[in-house]
Amino acid sequence: SIVLDQLTKRYEHHAVVNRVALQIHDGEFFVLLGPSGSGKSTILRMIAGLAPVDTGRIVLHGRDVTDLNPQARDVGFVFQNYALFEHMTVDENVEFALRIRKVERKQRTERRDQLLDLVGLAGLGKRLPRQLSGGQQQRVALARALAHNPAVLLLDEPFGALDAKIRTDLRRNLRSIQRELGITTIFVTHDQEEAFELADRLGVMNMGRLLEVGTPNELYQRPQTEFVATFLGSAN
Ligand code: ATP
Ligand code: MG
Repeated sequence: SIVLDQLTKRYEHHAVVNRVALQIHDGEFFVLLGPSGSGKSTILRMIAGLAPVDTGRIVLHGRDVTDLNPQARDVGFVFQNYALFEHMTVDENVEFALRIRKVERKQRTERRDQLLDLVGLAGLGKRLPRQLSGGQQQRVALARALAHNPAVLLLDEPFGALDAKIRTDLRRNLRSIQRELGITTIFVTHDQEEAFELADRLGVMNMGRLLEVGTPNELYQRPQTEFVATFLGSAN
């Protein structure tokens, strides 16, 4: 599980993440939805260990990681426009992550091919990133994040720059991979449609606050705040 306990982050006395409390279950696909600037990426960066927490705690699968460095957290992440190593082939990009994870050379090749197969890139291992489409590059980034065999997967608008058709394909693909591996996942987006299609449960943020949490149906049918009703386009 992922537990956020009164998580707060300030920049210049302004709380951009304000006392966020949340519990995400094992294997759950949780979507964080909210307008630009509401604090979504800042939450992911704190969970990944890329931004220090001001107050509050982060507990991943029972372990308090609030003060641990990123490598010690067992977290994989893919950010929008995630940079691959441009001078390395697809194969080498994935192997790099496996090497960090100290997977032995013999198993590395096999595991690499499994991962590329999983994300639908079998046969493209010898290409360089610039020889791939945007969607294919995001798949490499996903394979690389999965190579760490993380307990927690954080995805920050990973399909943001892609066109609608490719997004739909990638969403389906991602969802079936996530189910198969049972990885506890947080997916950030500001796209309502994407959130509704993917989420087991979702949380709606505005101005640093987590306003409501529930299944897509619950939030759509019975929003508790005007902001959520308007943002989700509920008919009431
Ligand atoms: P978007 O949908 O545009 O990606 P977001 O919900 O991910 O938005 P964040 O990136 O978490 O929003 O930013 C939340 C707020 O914190 C914004 O007002 C932003 O300007 C501010 N902020 C983020 N990083 C910093 C920083 N390093 N220094 C100062 N302010 C920051
Ligand atoms: Mg963001």
